[in-house]
Amino acid sequence: MTEQNVEKVIIIGSGPAGYTAGLYAARANLSPLLITGNEIGGQVAITTEVENYPGFPEGLTGPELVEKFQQQAEKFGTRILIDWVTEVDLKQHPFVVRTAGGEEFRALAIIVATGATPRRLGVPGEKEYTGFGVSYCATCDGFFFRDKEIVVVGGGDSALEEGLFLTKFARKVTVVHRRDQLRASKILQDRAFKNPKIHWKWSHVVERINAAGGEGNGTPPKVVSVTLRNLKTNEVYDFPTDGVFVYIGHIPNSDLFRGQLEIDAEGYVVTDRKFHTSVPGVFAAGEIQDKVFRQVVTSAGQGAAAAMQAEKFLAELENKSYAEILAEHGLAEPVAA
Ligand code: NAP
Repeated sequence: MTEQNVEKVIIIGSGPAGYTAGLYAARANLSPLLITGNEIGGQVAITTEVENYPGFPEGLTGPELVEKFQQQAEKFGTRILIDWVTEVDLKQHPFVVRTAGGEEFRALAIIVATGATPRRLGVPGEKEYTGFGVSYCATCDGFFFRDKEIVVVGGGDSALEEGLFLTKFARKVTVVHRRDQLRASKILQDRAFKNPKIHWKWSHVVERINAAGGEGNGTPPKVVSVTLRNLKTNEVYDFPTDGVFVYIGHIPNSDLFRGQLEIDAEGYVVTDRKFHTSVPGVFAAGEIQDKVFRQVVTSAGQGAAAAMQAEKFLAELENKSYAEILAEHGLAEPVAA
């Protein structure tokens, strides 16, 4: 290992929270290093249309917004590393961050903005046929379903927003929802109910995804139906479809921090109102710690706030040792660096 410089702040993650933390930390002259993760831009990068980010009354696509976030963060000096973090050691200070690309960094402060990943249905056929008719990204794959019939699973904002987008391509979109009431916002419900291409399977769940071909005959598999269960009648039947888009919520990407940061029963990193985690000097922002709002604008705001707190922590560190800060929190001394 070569002699390392100690970074002032490392930001882990490149969604709205990460880039905004970068912007604020850069403008505070902290020269932050942002490590993107392997899904650059996070969930918004695979969002079709963002209509509710203030300042853009006409709306813009998710990838366009991500590009603007990145440009603005870089303009003020955020250094962006396309790599993903495989290990952190928060038990010693400066903290240690290792990446898949074989880099090892040390940092005085860390902002965790690793976001969340789409939840899987966990039914037979889902994993095998991902990319062959099963998708989590209407923006990426909608085009392949021109004039086809598709199923969208879920009853939240994502299911309806992406379902509406898919009507631009598909002949028919059937929303399969496990209850008979939607969780999605009223405006999206109104739009979906008015759209003649959208049909509904209330109180239904997908039990299996079925495909044809793909078994050594030289042709790739192709989704042909889903096996549905009507939860009210218990009837199980096959429903023909060319594709399945799954929008059933998200799981926070917190595995990297297990055993080092306090994580709640649902997997979210626990923070206080100022975005401090259980380890002084480590902050968290965006969907890794927020199960309530989960909007682009709230994640961006939390990223800004976390960066401001990191700046405050670094100023404190100029007058005190890390051990003294830990002692003030009633915590044990870290392993010597
Ligand atoms: P969500 O609000 O958590 O909704 C998930 C949906 O999937 C719910 O309807 C849920 O059913 C269903 N579900 C969960 N697990 C399931 C399973 N195992 N099998 C079948 N169905 C299952 O997730 P989201 O729609 O991805 O939205 C996440 C957040 O982003 C929300 O805060 C949302 O407001 C926000 N968002 C906002 C916009 C916008 O403002 N335009 C767009 C997209 C997302 P139940 O209803 O029965 O629980």
